[in-house]
Parts: sequence; C-alpha cells; structure tokens
Amino acid sequence: MAGPGASILARATEAERAAMLRDIVEEVGYTRTEIGKDAFDARIMAAMAGVPRESFVPESHRLLAFANGPVPIGHGQTISQPYIVALMTDLLEPRPGHVVLEIGTGSGYQAAVLAGLVHRVYSVEIIAALASAAAGRLAGLGCDNVIVRHGDGYQGWPEHAPFDGIIVTAAAPHVPPPLVQQLKPGGRLVIPVGLPGCIQQLSVIEKNEEGRTSQRDVLMVAFVPLTGELR
Ligand code: SAH
Repeated sequence: MAGPGASILARATEAERAAMLRDIVEEVGYTRTEIGKDAFDARIMAAMAGVPRESFVPESHRLLAFANGPVPIGHGQTISQPYIVALMTDLLEPRPGHVVLEIGTGSGYQAAVLAGLVHRVYSVEIIAALASAAAGRLAGLGCDNVIVRHGDGYQGWPEHAPFDGIIVTAAAPHVPPPLVQQLKPGGRLVIPVGLPGCIQQLSVIEKNEEGRTSQRDVLMVAFVPLTGELR
C-alpha cells in the first residue's frame, strides 16, 4: 500500500506495539513476586519495541499479532505471548558480545528479539517448513546474525558450543544434558520443564565459573512440547 493509507496503517501498528509494551509492563506487575523484579531491563523492552511482531504471525491472525497471548503459526505450533518472550529474554541476561542458542525457532520472533541484543544467535527447529520460513523471514528483516538449522535441538549445536546462553521455547520433560554441557561457565539456560499437556515450570539453570550448576524455578507456564526421539 502507498500514500496516506500506508501511513495510517503504520501509525495503527505503532499504537498496537505500544499497547503490547504496556501489557508486558502490566503483567510484570502481576507476577513481580514470582519473577522477583518490578521491571525488565530497558534494553530488552527496546528490543521488543524494535521487532515487527506482525511480520511473524500468519496473515490470517494479523489482528492478534500484538495481543498478550500465544498465536498459532501452523503445524500445531505457536509464537509465545509477548510477556513470556520478554521474560525469557530478560532471564537469559543477554549481552552484546554473547553467542546464544535457541531451541525451537518457530516463527523466528524470539530469535529476532535476541538478534538485536547479542552478537550471534544459533537457532534449531525440528519442523523443516518452519525452519525454512523463519530463516527467510529473518533474512528479509536483515537479521543476518541469526543462523537457523533444521534438526532436533535436544542435542544442542555442538559445532558452535559453548554458548553464553541457551533458550528452549518448547517444554521438555527434563533438562537435556547436552544443553547443560554446551553452556559456558557463567552461562545460563532458560527452559520450561514439565510434562506435555501440563503446566510447566519456567526454570533457569546457571553454570558457575567452576562449572557447577544450580537451578531455580521462576514461573508456571504452558508451552508446546519438545518433540523428537531423544526426549
Ligand atoms: N520461539 C518460537 C516459538 C516456539 S514454539 C517463536 O518465537 O516463534 C516451539 C517450537 O519448538 C515449535 O516450532 C516446535 O516445532 C519446536 N520444537 C519442538 N521440539 C523441538 C526439538 N526437539 N528441536 C527443535 N525444535 C523443536
């Protein structure tokens, strides 16, 4: 669309994005006791503001793009709700020099948010069609520091390990040992742990400088399951 129609649409999208950010702030308020903070890092909120979420949802669900809920992306999968994307990104504590691994590329939205915060994002997706669509979408948006691979993320991505941070965006019945192995000392893994069809615990596993790990549970969440043979 060109002309005045395009600018009205752009302004409407901007208003929706601003409402999404307000919803995130509001939900941080509701969950402050569980998550132990009153606000997410300003860099994370800026990254959320900078990614065009509408480009990551199917055209048929455009009206839900900025709603604070998950949105179907086909193949029985969903793009997580904005608050959860922001929370997981905040828990990962990304820094500009970091190299991070994501398991569960899905639409590529979480990877795009991370792309603006770290040096490089490696992302693994088990459904080939989603992996190639996400790679194309990310390239089209200029996220050239995201590398997507089709495969089973249970094994991580050993060729590019170790990682400063690992984020798993599907629920695992247990923490996959290869992912813990592929964390750098000082690194952290953010992962929903629990059985499919149940509510899971969003957990953070930290590896200290001596290589010892500790785990803390942050919030009850509901994710699509981690699939593949290795669960
Ligand atoms: N992060 C995504 C949403 C993820 S939904 C986004 O921002 O859009 C969870 C995704 O994990 C789905 O696309 C699903 O296919 C993928 N998945 C499930 N099991 C997997 C596995 N073992 N390895 C890699 N990806 C997996």
